[in-house]
Amino acid sequence: MARDLRETLEEVGICTWSLEPANGRVTVSENCNQVLGVPARCLSDHDAFQAILHPEDRAARAAAVRGTLERGGRYSIEYRVRKTDGEIRWLRSQGRAERGRSPGSVRLRGIVYCIDAHRQAEARLQRLQADLIHVSRLSTMGEMASALAHEVNQPLGAIGIYAAACDYLLAESGTIRIDAARDALAAAIGQTQRAGAIIRRLRDFVTRGESDRQFESVQGLIGDACDLALIGVREQGVNTRIDPGPPGTRVFADRVQIQQVLVNLIRNACEAMRDSARRDLAIVAAVQDDGFVRISVSDTGPGISEAVAETLFLPFVTTKPAGMGVGLSVSQSIVHAHGGIFWADSTATGGATFHFILPLAED
Ligand code: ADP
Repeated sequence: MARDLRETLEEVGICTWSLEPANGRVTVSENCNQVLGVPARCLSDHDAFQAILHPEDRAARAAAVRGTLERGGRYSIEYRVRKTDGEIRWLRSQGRAERGRSPGSVRLRGIVYCIDAHRQAEARLQRLQADLIHVSRLSTMGEMASALAHEVNQPLGAIGIYAAACDYLLAESGTIRIDAARDALAAAIGQTQRAGAIIRRLRDFVTRGESDRQFESVQGLIGDACDLALIGVREQGVNTRIDPGPPGTRVFADRVQIQQVLVNLIRNACEAMRDSARRDLAIVAAVQDDGFVRISVSDTGPGISEAVAETLFLPFVTTKPAGMGVGLSVSQSIVHAHGGIFWADSTATGGATFHFILPLAED
């Protein structure tokens, strides 16, 4: 390699290396210690190089090296190394096969550079995205606060009535009507369970939680999301049709995040129908032939306004006076992170339909 090119590479923090497969010898440029955090003398051969790698990354590097030697071509991988001071550093290594010195032989040559800053930025972005998803969930719950308070108040009111009836029955002069009092108590207990279930669902929804993917039934996801999103909606005269698809349909997903998508779509649909004479909401899941399940939420509102159609999934796009405009963009990023696709179209009857597909979970 020309000297000035090598110097330039070294200046910008790129280490060059080569590997002779015949004897496993590795040659690295002088800036190796700066870039990898390990001096060149510790990297004399392939095995020594493997030894400084994070144990979880060794197999992938060995396979990339072996594959490129066998088939030719190039590779590009990322791995972690343990520096001599014990710290972990992320590196990207690119290599390619080329003709070796002896006839018919092949050797590898490439570059390696530090990507710690890039990794840190990525991790920060992921944290920010998780925060945004969480804040958006809190904001949805904030908007639903009065409907939620009403929903919890109902069983509390009922418990009060049953308790008063119980008190009355037990205090009735002379005859103790134990059976009737028991019935009233059982009914009160039923109501406490109802209130408890609402609060539990709410708590799960607002708790931050790291992204936690599990095998989830589509029916369960839709059922739980509807329980939450439809609070206070039935009173608005909305007819709801829920078809959760064939039982046993499963996805590998973060339950709370997928529920968040559904809650966003259902709340948007109900809000869109507020001034409509006809208020039909449908939540339908269908298994597709291509290994995905499609979940669609449609309404009979006015449809998506032209003003926002082009920019619908961009953050902070809203037509609502108090809207934040993050619901759809957050929903889209959740679906993308799950390997799915999210889109909107207009319903034949004039409203809007939002669809998303998720890969079916394989056992
Ligand atoms: P926000 O609800 O805070 O406005 P969203 O990102 O959830 O934020 O929605 C962005 C915009 O998309 C809404 O302001 C509305 O104009 C439009 N929109 C969303 N859902 C529907 C729907 N079901 N029907 C018509 N327009 C909708």
